[in-house]
Amino acid sequence: MKFVAAIDVGGTSIKAALVSQELEIIETISAPTPREDFSGIETARSIASIVHDLEKLHIASAIGFAVPGALNEESGVSRWSGNLGWKDLPIKELVSNEVKRPVAFGHDVRSGALAELRSGAAVKYQQSIFIPIGTGIAAALIIDGKIRSSDGYAGEIGHLNVGHDLKCVCGLSGCLETISSASAISKEYLKKTGNQLSAKEILGRIKTDDHAYQVWEQAIAYLAVALEELITILSPEAIVFGGGLSQAGSALLAPLNAILDDRLTFQRRPELLIAHYGANAGTIGCAIMALDLLPSEAT
Ligand SMILES: [Zn+2]
Repeated sequence: MKFVAAIDVGGTSIKAALVSQELEIIETISAPTPREDFSGIETARSIASIVHDLEKLHIASAIGFAVPGALNEESGVSRWSGNLGWKDLPIKELVSNEVKRPVAFGHDVRSGALAELRSGAAVKYQQSIFIPIGTGIAAALIIDGKIRSSDGYAGEIGHLNVGHDLKCVCGLSGCLETISSASAISKEYLKKTGNQLSAKEILGRIKTDDHAYQVWEQAIAYLAVALEELITILSPEAIVFGGGLSQAGSALLAPLNAILDDRLTFQRRPELLIAHYGANAGTIGCAIMALDLLPSEAT
């Protein structure tokens, strides 16, 4: 049995796991992402130290790691990441130098899509869209059975203009993620009630708390606007939701299904699904990328 290290580098934390070749998560570690590490050196060292800590029981034969932002997966360069402060950084080379074993490099959202496409909810579809909803919202586009990124730039659906007047960090107003993300739900509820709750806690109250219901309903309504546009342009057979908010399950899918039933006319109606790997899709995707580097062995 072989094992690999899966490392998901986020804006605030690095989530890592030791994963078996059967995609079983053996051990997990989380550590803060080094701040203002514009050279990437501290991040690379931190990844090496995390890999070392993961190897208490088994050696990782390869490393798969994913980062957010615009990147060139082939050359291993992060073109730009607002959260990490990186610009044209050869992060794959830096990490390879530190961990001294095969390294696979990918995008955080597309690595989640890889997991769902290879062995999760999207496995039987040639055309699908993977949408993790958490602090932000983004999409990975699966077209003709392949994850397409248009040189690493495509899928930033969190900044689709869905028609409201809230300002976004990107400088525009009307963006999907400033109204429908988990962090936006929390912020809107705080504005209405003065009460700081997580999106999960707000969701737990929608049957008994009118404000919670309104905030949730508003988030769903704007998400449906973006889905309608995506469906009209890309005609997916399935849309798979991941990230923290996907844990809402039918509270997310049932109202979206109802709105799409009402709104779509000539378009192909996609199935709406929850990610098989839930919030772990990105981790499993990193593991798959790393396993793909290893020579296949006869069993
Ligand atoms: Zn925006």
